[in-house]
Amino acid sequence: MGNRNYGHPCFGKDAASKIGRIHLPVAKACNIKCNYCDRNISCMNENHPGACLEVLTPEQALERYKRYASSDSRLKIVGISGPGDPLFNPETFKTFELIKSYDKGAIFCISTNGLLLEDRIEDLLKSNVRFVTVTVNAVNFEVAKEIYEFALYDEVLYFGEDAAKLLVEKQQKGIEKACKAGLVVKVNTVLIPDINQDHIEEIAKTVKALGVSVMNIMPLRPYAKFSHLKRPSCDAVNNIRKRCESIIDQISHCNQCRSDAIGMLMI
Ligand code: SF4
Repeated sequence: MGNRNYGHPCFGKDAASKIGRIHLPVAKACNIKCNYCDRNISCMNENHPGACLEVLTPEQALERYKRYASSDSRLKIVGISGPGDPLFNPETFKTFELIKSYDKGAIFCISTNGLLLEDRIEDLLKSNVRFVTVTVNAVNFEVAKEIYEFALYDEVLYFGEDAAKLLVEKQQKGIEKACKAGLVVKVNTVLIPDINQDHIEEIAKTVKALGVSVMNIMPLRPYAKFSHLKRPSCDAVNNIRKRCESIIDQISHCNQCRSDAIGMLMI
């Protein structure tokens, strides 16, 4: 399960104790609303995607990178994962540009909701991004409409079924294009009890067919509109991972890291 070494600690367990990553929280805004997301919680004790202590400017992000990269040679991966959506924020590309000029050896990755992925592939390639993670919680709009409140695309705000249809279609087109362009793509799927738990194998089959390398099924952290739901047990997550591992490579060492996480995933 998830032992292939892609050269990225979040994509395979083998790399997790050898290669470190630094998440630079420069992407403030988000273009969708997931019903489990609360980006207002940001203290140091919170550990979940979207949490960060402060949003940095690209220049501040470069300074942070310089400080940590010079003190730990294992820190090779520079990721932008939030607190909003990296592709919706021009600061993402500005940050990559600054770090690329400073360190030609830095390896870049992003974590995105996928709404803008199809539109930004060329920009990602120009920025030397090699790894992309897309959060895919549904591959049909009937399930997706329970998970997302709205989506903003091309200055138009979509709600309910329209938002769900748009996001599902854009994610799949973007993933296919990213894989064809040679990017290594991982899919994160949040296991949401009563909402997508019976849909996850279908997600695994769909993304595998689009060219995705590896899947990361994560238990819901119940915030915001989904705060009434229960966090799935380890057994529930492992059972679903087992069912999906014959379809697509699974990882099991994800820490659901913050947008400003730094260091090694495993010691
Ligand atoms: S894509 Fe990420 S940051 Fe945006 S609403 Fe969803 S969980 Fe929050």
